[in-house]
Order: sequence, then structure tokens, then C-alpha cells
Amino acid sequence: MIIIDGAQGEGGGQILRSALALSLVTQMPFRLENIRAGRRKPGLLRQHLTAVEAATRVGAAKTTGAELGSMTLEFHPNGVTPGDYRFAVGTAGSATLVFQTILPPLLIAQAPSSLVLEGGTHNPFAPPFEFLARSFTPLIERMGPRIELKLYQPGFFPAGRGRFAARIEPVRQLKCMDLLERGLVRQQRARVLSAMLPPSIGERELAVVQTRLGWGKECCLAESPVNPAGPGNALLLEIEADHVTGVFSSFGERSRSAEDVATQACQDASVWLDAGVPVDEHLADQLMIPMALSGGECSYRTVEPSLHSRTNAEIIQRFLPVRFRFEQESDHAWRVTVGVK
Ligand code: ATP
Repeated sequence: MIIIDGAQGEGGGQILRSALALSLVTQMPFRLENIRAGRRKPGLLRQHLTAVEAATRVGAAKTTGAELGSMTLEFHPNGVTPGDYRFAVGTAGSATLVFQTILPPLLIAQAPSSLVLEGGTHNPFAPPFEFLARSFTPLIERMGPRIELKLYQPGFFPAGRGRFAARIEPVRQLKCMDLLERGLVRQQRARVLSAMLPPSIGERELAVVQTRLGWGKECCLAESPVNPAGPGNALLLEIEADHVTGVFSSFGERSRSAEDVATQACQDASVWLDAGVPVDEHLADQLMIPMALSGGECSYRTVEPSLHSRTNAEIIQRFLPVRFRFEQESDHAWRVTVGVK
């Protein structure tokens, strides 16, 4: 059994999610100790527990310690069963991160799967739905599988109750993929999703995008979901280049100005645009498991690897016979390579 210290590196929820995904793929059991010890509220929160429950169902696993607040979890998988599943976080906790947990085994399962995921779909510190739909899954499709995503209802903090569906058509083996160039920017779009809030908030956010990024009014739009479960506001910047689409987001919260929300998303987009690399900070840690599973040598160019990425590499190396290399190419560009040891 693999013993993992959840306090290592980033010490956050990603260690748990990566361990669950990789345990399902390799069928190696693990024990995770000190779960999320690096966080202010350590242990399993609702979102993490839903990820454990999802992995448990998909993998017919035996678990101990799958309780709210638990600092230790043992997970013994027993195969992977693709099929139709519904997983509900039950709070505004991120449903997209639950999806990320069970996606790797389902990408290489014996049959297609259809998932419905409920909870937060537009949360700070998690991939918003559009990041999955326009940035992440199109890249995974280049590795062979087909993934269709559909957003039914956005879910914001604190009400949650967002819902999206995913249809996954797996392949026997993921193909290796390199992502070294971004190519030219072809299109850009700024979208504000606002629920139960005055339209002026979205208008102020889009005004900041026009000033800071120089985007025209024609690529800025504001939308309001029908029948939202509660108030919420997300700004989504989508930049489509030849080889990759970057999605940068920021979320409204009480006592945070619309200008501040928009400035953060614009800054994140500018860091990526200025670095001239295809892979942004978040895509960087999310591509690691699929690339490590491809069995070949894959590389991508990215911004400075986060502690998150480095911790993820450590966890992946515990389950798979691969090595990650992080090489700095210039002030703002790094190359990450994963290959068989
Ligand atoms: P905690 O550590 O509190 O448990 P968590 O479970 O929410 O936090 P983290 O360990 O912080 O998870 O991981 C968050 C994941 O969400 C990472 O894969 C990160 O790349 C991704 N992510 C965070 N912000 C964004 C964003 N703006 N766009 C896309 N992905 C994001």
C-alpha cells in the first residue's frame, strides 16, 4: 500500500484528488495521512468527501476515514466501472474538481460514461466550467478520448446547486501530446455571468477589460442564468489561439469591487499573453496526470511551475513509473517534460 503524507508540498486537496484518480487507474491502494494539513481548515471538506464518494462508486472501493473532517483516508479500489453516475456536492463546493478526480480512469475505461455533477461550477480556486469546456477538455481530446460537456445551471458560492453533464468516450491508451507553441491569438471573448445582481456590476467589469486589455465592445457580453439558486458573479476571459485556448476567471464576492474582480482576471490573462507560452499556471497542473498516463514522453511550455504542479508531480511519481523534469528556458518560460523513468 502506498502511504502518502498529505502535508507535503502544497498540502492541499489536490494531493487527495490525484491519489484517488491514480489509485483507480493503477488499482494500487493508498493511505493518505495529514489530509490538507497545509490548509486553514484541514481534513476532508464536503467537496473532498464527494470526490472520495465518486471515486468509491466508480472503483467499487473499500474506504476507511471517509468522513467530514477526517485527516486520514484509506482507499482500496476494486476495478473501474464506467457508466451513468450522478454526484452532488450538496454545498457550493466545486463540482468541477469532483469531475477532475474521476476523469482519468474513465478516459481509459472499457466503455463510455455519462456523468451529472452538481455543486459549485464557478468557484474561486477551482476550474470554472468554461475552463474545462474550452481549455482543458479540447486538449485531452487530442490525446484520443471524446468528452462532451454541457452546463445546465451555474452554481456560485454560497448557494451552489449548479449542474453540468459530461459524456466521456474512452480510448484504450491515451496518445502522447506536446504543447510547445501557442500560435497566434485568433479570437477573444469576455463573458460576465451574473445572477441576481445589478447589471451595473457586469458593465463595470467589462469596462475594465476594454481598458486594460484593449478589447472591443463586440467581444464583451453579459449573461444572466435563468432560475439561479442564488446570487453570483463570474468574469470569464477566453483567448483562443492556434494551439490552445486560455480561460482566465475571477469571481465577485461581498465587499470586493467589480473593478478589482476584473483587474485580477486581466492580470492573469496578461501574464500568460506576455510569457508567450501555451500552458497557463492552472492548465499546467491539470495536464500532468493525462500526460503521465500516455506512456510516452510529453512536454509542454508554461509559466513558472506552481508549488501545486510540483506537488502533483511528486504524487504522480508515487503511482506511475514516470519522472517529471522542470527546466527554466527564459525569465518567464519553463518546459515541463514527463516520461518513463
Ligand atoms: P484545498 O487545498 O483547500 O483543499 P482545493 O481542494 O480547492 O483546495 P487545490 O489543492 O487548491 O484544491 O486545487 C485547486 C485546483 O483548481 C488546481 O488544479 C488548480 O489548478 C485549479 N484552479 C484553481 N484556480 C483555477 C482557475 N482560475 N482556473 C482554472 N483552474 C483553477
